[in-house]
Amino acid sequence: MDKEAWWRQKILLTMPRSIMRVWDIPITKLCNKHLVAQHHEIHCIASINLHGYGGFCNHPETRRWRGHINQLAYKHYQTVNEMVARGMKHHYHLGTIDDVSMSTDGCPEPWQPVEQQIALLKSKGCKCEV
Ligand SMILES: [Zn+2]
Ligand SMILES: [Zn+2]
Repeated sequence: MDKEAWWRQKILLTMPRSIMRVWDIPITKLCNKHLVAQHHEIHCIASINLHGYGGFCNHPETRRWRGHINQLAYKHYQTVNEMVARGMKHHYHLGTIDDVSMSTDGCPEPWQPVEQQIALLKSKGCKCEV
């Protein structure tokens, strides 16, 4: 199986069980679990927006980043930097988001208010510092 096919299969297998989420919360405040999940989701969103995979094209998080792939690439860069700073490895080098040029123009508007995101993270009882 080539890498793209592997990735497409991974998206289809894992997406229905996860809520796609790129948090609008400073990356340093995310717990390891949510940091890793965000990284995974950035790759999913990038693949969907770049290649149109799967049935998740209309998820608000996917729609939010449509036309903002360069900002998503920057979010990916920040996320990976934080993962590496915490001693984690960056596993996915799939030639999707890794090859997109970055823009620091700021993220597109959140589809859920930041206060609600904070409340959601608090309710999870994880180690996010929100
Ligand atoms: Zn990555
Ligand atoms: Zn967390």
